[in-house]
Amino acid sequence: KLRHEVVIIGGGSAGIATASSMLKRRPSLDIAIVEPCEDHYYQPGWTMVGGGIFDAPVTRRPMASVMPKSATWLREAAASFQPESNQITLSDGTTITYAILIVAPGIRLAWEKIEGLEDTLGRNGVTSNYRYDLAPYTWDLVRNLKSGRAIFSQPPMPIKCAGAPQKAMYLSCDAWKERGVLSDIEVQFRNAGGVLFGVKEYVPALMEYVETYGIDLKLNQTLIAVDGPGRKAVFKTEAGEETVEFELLHAVPPQVAPRFVADSPLASADSGFVDVDKFTLQHVRYPNVFGVGDAGSMPNAKTAAAARKQAPIVAVNALAVLDGKEPWADYDGYGSCPLTVERGKIVLAEFGYDGKLLPSFPKWVIDGTRPRRLSWLLKSEALPWIYWNGMLKGHEWLVKPKARKAAKE
Ligand code: FAD
Repeated sequence: KLRHEVVIIGGGSAGIATASSMLKRRPSLDIAIVEPCEDHYYQPGWTMVGGGIFDAPVTRRPMASVMPKSATWLREAAASFQPESNQITLSDGTTITYAILIVAPGIRLAWEKIEGLEDTLGRNGVTSNYRYDLAPYTWDLVRNLKSGRAIFSQPPMPIKCAGAPQKAMYLSCDAWKERGVLSDIEVQFRNAGGVLFGVKEYVPALMEYVETYGIDLKLNQTLIAVDGPGRKAVFKTEAGEETVEFELLHAVPPQVAPRFVADSPLASADSGFVDVDKFTLQHVRYPNVFGVGDAGSMPNAKTAAAARKQAPIVAVNALAVLDGKEPWADYDGYGSCPLTVERGKIVLAEFGYDGKLLPSFPKWVIDGTRPRRLSWLLKSEALPWIYWNGMLKGHEWLVKPKARKAAKE
């Protein structure tokens, strides 16, 4: 039986950033990070891999290299929670007690909810930028396609990086345009949602690209089955079911709370995610438990950018609770989705709760609602560096927590 002052579940973007943030503030803190995976991934880079801009290995580093030096890494998966006794159980049966628990195991990609998809991923023209090993296959397919139908699907919300399904499409279209084959390819965007993008200010710029590339935009269409060898996809539509043939299918799976969270006392009744206050990120029933990143129930855009803003909030609030005080900082729901509309230009969506625009730059530097070259430089050059050297190390430029009242005003 182990005991640590702070236990963090998940060594992804949110878990590592939060651990580093807490240790920057209190270097002597005893933190254990529960993480079974030997590698850490910069998932925002996978869109660039699928677009032939990054090589896959630049998005992966050994987990050991991102673990804060003074944290204890427990190489095991968390299996269940016993919050009444301040305890978790790992998959090998070990139990750990804690003063503070921070839950950050991300979101689960539910590939199995689309019949036949898992059997054909990576073959028969079926791909997805949502997996490290498949993003290079997206670029292989795009590079070699000369004609036929290319379908890009988007599942119902919530998903991580809600713009990623269409980012894959725009970069593909741009490559086909460049090669002069776009007019021979029928591009369809089949989106389970009823709008192109959830925050209306960004839609006009995106629609211009939909038109320029000649994309057939189909809303309220959910991918439910794939026949890889037959190259057919089945969509549920308002009119019933439709079977469509394809040469290329970029599929994005539905996404849900990890099972061990959804089945636990920590889960929110409606979504299964860690049931937290959307401002303080403190659990609504267990004050010494916090949720951060994609696994939290707060209704922000699930992005690494959101985790970057949440980490210091959770850090200061959790340290306050550890000291017997109340959480004092508020998260404003910030999330960001750099929409790669063409190679070299990005529509930089940045917004918080209720779709409130929260741009990081004044409009004359970057107008996020318009395609900009500077936004592309941010995504392709600056953000990966900021991620590895700033966010994961607890250097919090521009994201210092504000006191609760100030943040709410
Ligand atoms: P993750 O980073 O996924 O980490 C979760 C960790 O928990 C993993 O290391 C996992 O191994 C571990 N874990 C899982 N189960 C257990 C368990 N039982 N016990 C212990 N550990 C466990 N974000 C942006 O900001 N901008 C973008 O442009 C962007 N584009 C994206 C494009 C794609 C294709 C994808 C897939 C994602 C993109 N994102 C983007 C989203 C971003 O990657 C996620 O929002 C971010 O990684 C969330 O961090 P997290 O720590 O919550 O989850």
